[in-house]
Amino acid sequence: MTNSSTAVVWFRRDLRMADNPALSAACARADRVVLVYVHAPDEEGDWPPGAASRWWLHGSLARLSSDLRGRGAELHLRHGPSLEALLAVVRATGADCVYWNRLYEPALAHRDAQVESALRAAGIDVQSCSAAMLVEPTEVATREGRPYRVFTPYWRACLPRLEEQPRILPPPRITTAELATPGPTLDELRLRPAIRWDTGLEAAWNPGEAGALARLEAFCESILGGYSESRERPDLDGTSRLSPHLHFGEIGPRQCLAAARNALAGRADRQAGFDAFVRELGWREFAHHVLHHFPHTTVAPLDTRFAGFTWDPDPRLLAAWQRGQTGFPIVDAGMRQLWTTGWMHNRVRMIVASLLTKNLRQHWLDGARWFWDTLVDADLASNTLGWQWVAGCGADAAPFFRIFNPLVQAARHDPDGAYTGRWLTARDYSQPAPIVDLRASRAAALDAYSRLGR
Ligand code: FAD
Repeated sequence: MTNSSTAVVWFRRDLRMADNPALSAACARADRVVLVYVHAPDEEGDWPPGAASRWWLHGSLARLSSDLRGRGAELHLRHGPSLEALLAVVRATGADCVYWNRLYEPALAHRDAQVESALRAAGIDVQSCSAAMLVEPTEVATREGRPYRVFTPYWRACLPRLEEQPRILPPPRITTAELATPGPTLDELRLRPAIRWDTGLEAAWNPGEAGALARLEAFCESILGGYSESRERPDLDGTSRLSPHLHFGEIGPRQCLAAARNALAGRADRQAGFDAFVRELGWREFAHHVLHHFPHTTVAPLDTRFAGFTWDPDPRLLAAWQRGQTGFPIVDAGMRQLWTTGWMHNRVRMIVASLLTKNLRQHWLDGARWFWDTLVDADLASNTLGWQWVAGCGADAAPFFRIFNPLVQAARHDPDGAYTGRWLTARDYSQPAPIVDLRASRAAALDAYSRLGR
């Protein structure tokens, strides 16, 4: 064992073996690796994972463990604090380096910086890698050296970098070091609900790397070609549904881009769909850029004029919205799709968020928190950007006068009523008394917005 080196790989939201730069670099540099996942939800600041995210995480860790076991490697689980858990593993194995893939949420980036300096102070090398982004949040800036607040110029600055992406890494050959001290079992992390409300999630999803890769392949083959139109249709299987897989890093954006490029080769008819898909991946990048540079936006509006906006808190209205009892079929269908499957179509997310923040005048944070608990793809960057965009107070926000009419939206995007029909019962249709008058509430919202002094 003399002169042999050991490295720790700290898995976080990069729960995959392929195209995992931290895992590949550790396996290339060290003779042996120790693979660790530390459960430390209280290190995530005000936004520890919600119930649906925890459900997904359980499935994803189970899958990664079994995939690794198939390659003769073990994933060791630990309880936080992360630094203590890592130091204990380092001491037990004699490791001299810890590898991880970067995270960008403010609380986690802060935690990682502290862990890194403490490890270095203890004589341990640290290597952090880029796995979750096509473009690091600090890589692009305006001509004045400032962060972007508007998507189109941001994405224009990013596009050349998409041509310089590193090659996709295959799963590495893994040789593990012994770690005798036992940690908790997956069940002991208590990620799954005690009362099993999760049957709808079980039916809808296949967490893990294999499920992610299968979905990407199916999307590229069958949906990508028509995606620029089908993405606006909640009644169709017209989008990738990769968002939870991307959030947990079961697949990376580089793999999505590469697969879409392969699917495009020799198929000019897929160009529009390809462009639209890459642009949506771009919104995910933009969300991380904005969150990195404006970390306060998780709880405060980016547009400071909104700090004094008069919301009209009403727990009764909020509860009706959460339960899908607003009397607007497309809104109620969306809220039930969310509750049952942990996911909602993007167009419907915009419609339900507009009704909540503009017609019902409930605070965007109330909506963001509900999404946070119920979405399997709950992502601090994308959720914050999405809510502030719809509320009109964020980066590149929808103009304040854009107030979605849920009836017009339904006619346009669910023309045959197939989407609402899937989520509402005949009884729901017979009692749809709207909880708010669309015209009057629209006028009241416009009035309140006009007082912001634009
Ligand atoms: P596709 O249409 O197939 O898009 C491909 C990928 O691009 C997605 O998987 C996603 O990673 C990314 N993407 C697409 N649209 C957006 C967008 N507008 N912003 C950021 N990334 C995008 N997305 C989340 O991942 N987590 C959230 O918590 C979240 N909250 C949202 C809240 C609101 C109010 C709104 C309006 C949008 C929110 N979104 C969120 C963005 C978007 O609705 C989802 O990413 C998308 O519906 C996921 O479905 P998909 O994978 O089929 O997307």
